[in-house]
Amino acid sequence: MKDFELVIIGGGLASARAIKSYREEGGAGRILLVSKDSALPYHRPPLSKRYLRGETEAVDALVESATFYADNDVEMLLETTVARVDSRERAVEIEGGPRHRYRKLLIASGARPRRLDSPGANLPGVFSLRSLSDSTVIREAAGQAREALVIGGGFIGMEVAASLRHLGLEVTLINRASGLFQALEAPELEREVAIFFADHDVNLLLPDQVAAFCGRSHVDSIETEIGKRLATDFVVAGIGAEPVVDFLAGSGVELDNGVVVGERFETSVPGIYAAGDVANFYDSLFDRRRRIEHWSNANYQGDQVGRILAGGDGGYDTVSTFFSEIFGLTLKVFGDLSGHSELVVRGSLSDRNLLGFYLQQGRLVASLAVGQEKQTEEELQLLIKQQVVLDSDLLADPSTDISSLLKPAANER
Ligand code: NAP
Repeated sequence: MKDFELVIIGGGLASARAIKSYREEGGAGRILLVSKDSALPYHRPPLSKRYLRGETEAVDALVESATFYADNDVEMLLETTVARVDSRERAVEIEGGPRHRYRKLLIASGARPRRLDSPGANLPGVFSLRSLSDSTVIREAAGQAREALVIGGGFIGMEVAASLRHLGLEVTLINRASGLFQALEAPELEREVAIFFADHDVNLLLPDQVAAFCGRSHVDSIETEIGKRLATDFVVAGIGAEPVVDFLAGSGVELDNGVVVGERFETSVPGIYAAGDVANFYDSLFDRRRRIEHWSNANYQGDQVGRILAGGDGGYDTVSTFFSEIFGLTLKVFGDLSGHSELVVRGSLSDRNLLGFYLQQGRLVASLAVGQEKQTEEELQLLIKQQVVLDSDLLADPSTDISSLLKPAANER
């Protein structure tokens, strides 16, 4: 048993950012980081994009080098699982090992991929993608393959399908909806994304699902619900993720779609905080609880919670963002897509120039931006923050400058 000022469970981006800002804010004492992963904290966006395509190496994805952790007095326990948290004793219990005491605990355990339960889903060659080592395995498989099947029309599905196509593989993408990118919550845009993939020679099976994976010692084909049979060299499934909270059973920490936290990331148990993919937090801008599994959220929340843990100011006060990259096109989303009643669209994906305005009672709650200037992207975020009531005809008019819709509030930038 050792004593630590701060114990962090999870070794992703939020944890690395928290360590950095904790120290910057003057946070003292020894830190223990416990991670199931075998690698130091890394950025995940390259795993379905540049790293998967072989354009970068593993070291390029690291958030910080090994010396950063040593320099900041962080003890790293990699390939290590926390079995449970004893909040009365303020201790974490390592699976098959010792307990360690904390004064403050940060839960940044992230999410794990959902698994398919169709027959044959455990055959070699059926992959999911979450970790750096998952991406390495898929990258190696792609190097020896001619055709691939990708399951799911979300982030992993779209990005992996685009990357594998870029590598010259014949790619089939199967999704149970009739479009792609359902997170957009806009059927007309989801159809447009599907057309964009078809235009890039991705074979689409929409809507359909895998009924069974076939093969003796390795997957070699699949059967679909509507009765298609398709040969494939390997499969990548991207069917969503779920928060990792098993080790919190009996800890007293309130769980509900992840770990419930307040605006300053503290859980229902004093001294225990959560951030990143696992945190179900309150977003005051939209007056609702959210859990966000994106790079920018882990980046932001990790930084904020580190400051709070060190006794500084901080909390959730931003316009959430995420981005995706497909066939050289970056799609950026600002705000909360889930709560709109009206959508106004300018431009198109095929023109590589698109603006989607998601409105609720005339106020902009989210925006999709493709091919826009940085200044326009910043103005969109400010427009969401300002909650101005907007005229949809004005928004639809391509000659309307976004800046002209803003309230004069230069100091909000
Ligand atoms: P995702 O974006 O939630 O997409 C999951 C997709 O799989 C959806 O199309 C979903 O359809 C479908 N699906 C769910 N269950 C299924 C089933 N049983 N059979 C067939 N299809 C099923 O999740 P993801 O693409 O797997 O990504 C995993 C996590 O990594 C997500 O949290 C994502 O945000 C994150 N990620 C983010 C980025 C980025 O920010 N650029 C990139 C990669 C990964 P329904 O909508 O019908 O359920």
